[in-house]
Amino acid sequence: MLKGKVAIVTGSTSGIGLGIARELARLRADIVLNGFGDANEIEAIRSGIEREHGVRVSYDGADMSKEDAVRGLVTATVAKFGRLDIVVNNAGIQFTAPVEEFPAARWNAILAINLSAAFHSIAAAVPQMKKQRWGRIVNIASAHGLVGSTHKAAYVAAKHGLIGLTKVVGLETAGSGVTCNAVCPGWVRTPLVDKQINDIAAERGISQQDAARDMLAEKQPSLEFVSPAQLGGTVAFLCSGAADQITGTAISVDGGWTAR
Ligand code: NAD
Repeated sequence: MLKGKVAIVTGSTSGIGLGIARELARLRADIVLNGFGDANEIEAIRSGIEREHGVRVSYDGADMSKEDAVRGLVTATVAKFGRLDIVVNNAGIQFTAPVEEFPAARWNAILAINLSAAFHSIAAAVPQMKKQRWGRIVNIASAHGLVGSTHKAAYVAAKHGLIGLTKVVGLETAGSGVTCNAVCPGWVRTPLVDKQINDIAAERGISQQDAARDMLAEKQPSLEFVSPAQLGGTVAFLCSGAADQITGTAISVDGGWTAR
């Protein structure tokens, strides 16, 4: 379905981004992986996807907290592959604290990686996508892009901002063959969430299993985690012809979190 298309997935060395990269590769897109981690592990992921799906997979370690690096990732991809069809803005970090104790440096880092990076990659990618008269921008927001929770001032602000950015880019590219949408996952069991499960377990003196159950019970009516593969499927749908007229919107994949 995506043969000949080129996709950048930011933050794809782990978790949701990796699930999305795997699904797009399964559909035959060439992939640019991005994110941090152990060089040998990243190379094993890169070559593994390439072998399994017979697509080209490259890795670019651009730091999404830096404007030049984000724009450079787009430029380097176009230079290397000659085109750019799909950008999935997924890289993200989390930090929790009451607002009056929230360190300004953490606020700045979360805004830079979870919001500004998407602005820079979109600004750099849209001219190329318009030239091709086809493009898909998918911003991985969160249920926290639609509703708030305590102790997540920066994350909730950034994710709400990302949905605002999605609407504006959807409007500005309407009719050009380019679409821009957000996906809003509920809890997904990744390293980002494991850290929060560990914190709950330590705080309440309970097992990780009980902490995970409590976490779901508090927010996610399905009482089941969303999987990275399911989110890969959502992104794939947004890249399909069925989604040609879906733009500027936010799709929840959250087990019912934001329905109440
Ligand atoms: P994760 O920690 O497993 O993965 C994050 C990825 O981002 C990693 O590849 C990491 O190396 C990369 N990254 C972090 N800082 C970076 C930087 N400065 N430059 C480049 N790459 C960087 O987290 P995840 O849970 O897979 O989260 C992925 C996205 O999904 C995030 O935007 C997150 O906010 C969002 N999300 C996650 C959940 C969840 O429950 N896990 C729910 C809703 C939304």
